[in-house]
Amino acid sequence: MHCEDTYQETLYSGYGQNFSIDRLLFEDHTEHQHLIIFENRFFGRIMALDGVIQTTEKDEFIYHEMLTHVPILAHGKVKRVLIIGGGDGGMLREVLRHRSVEQVTMVEIDRAVVDLCRQWLPNHCAGAYDDPRVNLVIEDGVRFVNNHGIADHSFDVIISDCTDPIGPGEVLFSSEFYRGCKRLLTDKGIFVAQNGVPFMQLNEVTTTAHRLASYVSDLHFYSAAVPTYACGIMTFAWGTDDLKARHIPLVELEARFAHSNITTRYYTPEVHLAAFALPRYIETAIAEAVAEKQQSGNASPSRS
Ligand code: SAM
Repeated sequence: MHCEDTYQETLYSGYGQNFSIDRLLFEDHTEHQHLIIFENRFFGRIMALDGVIQTTEKDEFIYHEMLTHVPILAHGKVKRVLIIGGGDGGMLREVLRHRSVEQVTMVEIDRAVVDLCRQWLPNHCAGAYDDPRVNLVIEDGVRFVNNHGIADHSFDVIISDCTDPIGPGEVLFSSEFYRGCKRLLTDKGIFVAQNGVPFMQLNEVTTTAHRLASYVSDLHFYSAAVPTYACGIMTFAWGTDDLKARHIPLVELEARFAHSNITTRYYTPEVHLAAFALPRYIETAIAEAVAEKQQSGNASPSRS
């Protein structure tokens, strides 16, 4: 994955971005994956897992703001949040900025990611792990959401901040995982998940559409361009039974955002609504995947 002073991402065979390693901070195999954290002259500190860039100091705000403020402000009355993955702590930091949030459970499979990111990427979590509202669970996310010791309808928002569907992250794109998340959502609860860069990983979108369609009435995707998730916009899966949640009027979103008293560098209410407008090729691929599901007879009854 890297020679002396260059890190080569290996997510795709035949294509990849590379970064100068201006200062190597940590590299080793954890119990679950290869982990490297290094400094790069343009993106700041960078963490990669199993050859795939996970997060950089320079552009993490885009991804973390869009995967938290969109579902939380769309819902409007979020008290309890579940984060699956998210070991770098950036997602936790953004969720905790909402005063309405009373409790965040974060289920991360790899304790080493949490510990090493607290040490080498301190600006990501920015003390979030010390917030009394946080319940950190070191466990496989698919096991957690299917553990019937966790009561049904426990969470208003569930955020899957996982790796790509390779290695430990693969199960977080399974029907078993989506089924477990749906069980844990409240009636108006919203599920969102990182769902890859469709120009290179369109099958991730269609597979999620095909699987998630069974469990929610409103299945959609929204997007943002995150520079180090290379090759165009990244999609975020959206699933809820609340057919209004995706269509909150701008004036209402603006009021909720103002009331949250949160300052952002990427998220705005206008960007929130615009993010749900998808390019034609992605819309077509989703529609075909859902239609195939409906023909096979087990998509969720009402579709928006
Ligand atoms: N922003 C990144 C992206 O879009 O690919 C994700 C960042 S975050 C570091 C991904 C986290 O998911 C990692 O900490 C990894 O350990 C965790 N993870 C992978 N598989 C998991 C599983 N089955 N259960 C819980 N956490 C998991």
